[in-house]
Amino acid sequence: MAARKYIYFFGGGKAEGTAEMKGLLGGKGANLAEMAGLGLPVPPGFTITTEACSEYYHLGRKKLFSLISGQLDKSLKKLEKVTGKTFGRGPRPLLVSVRSGAAVSMPGMMDTVLNLGLNPETCRALIEQTGNERFVLDSYRRFIQMFGDVVMGVPHHHFEQELDAVKRSRRIQLDTELDIDALQEVIRRYEKIYRRDTGKAFPTDPKRQLQAGIDAVFGSWNNPRAIKYRQLNDIRGLKGTAVNVQTMVFGNSGENSATGVAFTRDPSTGEHRYFYGEYLINAQGEDVVAGIRTPQQITRRGSREWAKSQNVSEAERRKKYPSLEEAMPAVFKELDAIRVRLEKHYRDMQDLEFTIEDGTLYMLQTRNGKRTAAAAVKIAVDMVKEGLISEKQAVLRIEPQSLDQLLHPVFIKEAEEKAVRLTVGLPASPGAATGQAVFSAAEAEAWAEEGKQVILCRIETSPEDIGGMNAARGILTARGGMTSHAAVVARGMGKCCVAGAGALNIDYRDKKFSVNGTAVREGDWISLNGSTGAVYAGSVETVAPKLSGPFGQIMKLADKYRRLGVRTNADTPHDTTVAVKFGAEGIGLTRTEHMFFEGDRIVSFRRLILVAETVKRLKDDCGCAGLKELKKAVAGNKQALEAISQYQQGLRELLPLQRRDFEGIFRALKGRPCTIRLLDPPLHEFLPQDAAGQKEMAGVMGVKVSRIKYLVESLHEFNPMLGHRGCRLGITYPEVTEMQVRAICEAACRVAGSRPEIMIPLAGNVKELSSQKQIIERVIAEVSAAKKKKLSILIGTMIEIPRAAVTADEIAREAEFFSFGTNDLTQMGCGFSRDDAGKFLGEYVQKGIYEYDPFQVLDQDGIGKLVEMAVKLGRKTRPDLKLGICGEHGGEPRSVEFCHRVGLNYVSCSPFRVPIARLAAAQAALRD
Ligand code: ADP
Ligand code: MG
Ligand code: MG
Repeated sequence: MAARKYIYFFGGGKAEGTAEMKGLLGGKGANLAEMAGLGLPVPPGFTITTEACSEYYHLGRKKLFSLISGQLDKSLKKLEKVTGKTFGRGPRPLLVSVRSGAAVSMPGMMDTVLNLGLNPETCRALIEQTGNERFVLDSYRRFIQMFGDVVMGVPHHHFEQELDAVKRSRRIQLDTELDIDALQEVIRRYEKIYRRDTGKAFPTDPKRQLQAGIDAVFGSWNNPRAIKYRQLNDIRGLKGTAVNVQTMVFGNSGENSATGVAFTRDPSTGEHRYFYGEYLINAQGEDVVAGIRTPQQITRRGSREWAKSQNVSEAERRKKYPSLEEAMPAVFKELDAIRVRLEKHYRDMQDLEFTIEDGTLYMLQTRNGKRTAAAAVKIAVDMVKEGLISEKQAVLRIEPQSLDQLLHPVFIKEAEEKAVRLTVGLPASPGAATGQAVFSAAEAEAWAEEGKQVILCRIETSPEDIGGMNAARGILTARGGMTSHAAVVARGMGKCCVAGAGALNIDYRDKKFSVNGTAVREGDWISLNGSTGAVYAGSVETVAPKLSGPFGQIMKLADKYRRLGVRTNADTPHDTTVAVKFGAEGIGLTRTEHMFFEGDRIVSFRRLILVAETVKRLKDDCGCAGLKELKKAVAGNKQALEAISQYQQGLRELLPLQRRDFEGIFRALKGRPCTIRLLDPPLHEFLPQDAAGQKEMAGVMGVKVSRIKYLVESLHEFNPMLGHRGCRLGITYPEVTEMQVRAICEAACRVAGSRPEIMIPLAGNVKELSSQKQIIERVIAEVSAAKKKKLSILIGTMIEIPRAAVTADEIAREAEFFSFGTNDLTQMGCGFSRDDAGKFLGEYVQKGIYEYDPFQVLDQDGIGKLVEMAVKLGRKTRPDLKLGICGEHGGEPRSVEFCHRVGLNYVSCSPFRVPIARLAAAQAALRD
């Protein structure tokens, strides 16, 4: 059996891999191969597969290396041949980078080592060859630092301290000002630090350096930052990272060399007015993103806009920060042509890394660029217009969940104009954020945990800050450009970010920053505009965003391709209006009980509850069904009569209030359907549980506190979610159902075109339905006759009890529609209390017992089966049965896809998730 191929070569105009092989070669490796195959100037190298990484974890490092060592030696030989250099010896020493790269890009998550292969001997040869001692020493000190940090875990700042000390003693500020002598001192100090921290001398054998480098990259796959990143981004099922070993090219070899990163379109807005990117002359690798020096722009136009925003004069800009277009026009032209070519080739916006060595351009990376949701939408819409992609591809290209970013507020213009502007940084990730300043990631997490909204303020961010960045409303940094860690990660998270606000003087020790004479301390409110880079003192008011433009166009396309309807869950005219604006085609769930809590309605309802049981008992005792009959039967019993009239009084008070609510909602719906659920929660939820509240209620009702206490106790349930609620209430207190239905019918008579649908909650047995349906049909007929209006109102039920799902054929005899209440169905189907499951569900998900929290993502294997079964059984009885879902899952993309698959008619979700559901539904239809 031939040994498995663990290493793929690229370079010399050829490549063994392609862009399609991301799973095996990682994104970086697959795209390097693709670019090399296209004949672009890619430094040659090879990729060790993700399968090798997986073996590393299965077999251990020793076995892995013996498994791949033959292929590794061969690949190195080939690399030497292609480059004409030799690894670790000879007059033209070969230096390589060792780069990580998984199938999904994880910026900054794993570690890269540059300049590997340097030692005193190769340094000498390289100085001989290049005649540039300064450059060689600069590369060597970088190598010691990176190898020490990444491979051996020597803290980065131990090296930084030494570097700073040397710079200070020589009174210089920039790394580029370090001369040969200074660099030699830095190297001596670095070697000392290395020996001190690792207990070993710096390894001079390049083969051992390489092996250790590969080992470290594989090891970094499971470092805490990488694990956290995968968790936060829900990245699963990958084999591991690939390792790319690639010939070094040097952007730090002098003034005719440079390194940079660029986007083929603006990753914040999606615009492509010019070529977006940044570069630094005489710099290496991550200098651009590390925020050590101020990066320069690629194009003259971009450079001028940047200078304007930073208050840099044109003369100063040209002298100190010229664009690549101005500084190296020929290279710029070549790079611009590659940009156009790559975008056409990949048919998507690309994020590029390049290096210029002595005037020669090299491409070091390309990938589909991370972008904000706004940019994603604009790019997709533009690319359809440009003929690069089809409408369907455009719809499929946008992550439904990301639309959330576009639905959230931006600053009110006037409020922003009035706000005190502290400074302007770079508009790194758009949106508006207001919060209290905190100065460390840990604090951001802790404050957010307490429910506070915070802005994370850092000199610059690093991968360790991920958790804090995620917890913060916005991120503010003093250093770094548009491609700095903070900017890239914030855009990925859809979080507002202002980066590189150079005027900020951040003091971590005293937890404050000062800027242009103002001090902001921990806990002070500040506001960020991620679209302009402005930083304001205090909190600035926000408004809803614009839903037209590219967003509107994408939604239109989504509607063109989706087959699933999208409704909303809304209890008020306001929420209804918002949802209709977001494209809701009706209401899938109105919860009437929410209306009972508003204002003094609760008083009317409590009055009713106070006597409800008495009335019920009287009815049972007399064997009377109706209140009229009961009144006659108890004539003379003053107490009984009083209770009955108080009960009726409560109902009378509630009727017009409910009617008004429904009228408002029907008006907001403008002829769209509206599913209304009858009273659902247990009665004790409407009573005060604390002593003060009970005293107050007693006062309002004019009864003794003891009576209220007794009432609360008598309504107490051990397991209220399985208690006296849902249609069980309607069966015990039919007058409440009657009142609600009357309010619905009367409201429908008043608002032309209204289309109510009445939904009976929590049925588990078809007889519960028949009993409630009798009342509902009777009231509809009564109102219809009284108002002389024909009312056609569908009567249906929630499917939220497993028994209802498995007897759906019977249920469908009575119900004209089903709406899957998947919150309760999950609770009862999995046996997880919604209120208590938080204690263990996290662990369950972590251990993979459930793939996702089943309350967030529908458990398709279990609860989904109940849904499917109910769909089949229900439609068997009633082929035109209307089916929807109104649980939280109705706005969750994976669950929406499931609903499409099992043939529901619509999903219903909270207003802000309506656009997400529309897009998810379209994607489900396109993936069919
Ligand atoms: P990341 O995944 O963090 O972007 P990379 O592997 O892309 O890490 O490398 C980090 C930096 O080093 C990038 O700026 C990249 O362009 C640069 N780099 C990587 N390999 C080489 C090389 N062979 N020659 C020159 N620069 C390199
Ligand atoms: Mg990196
Ligand atoms: Mg990179």
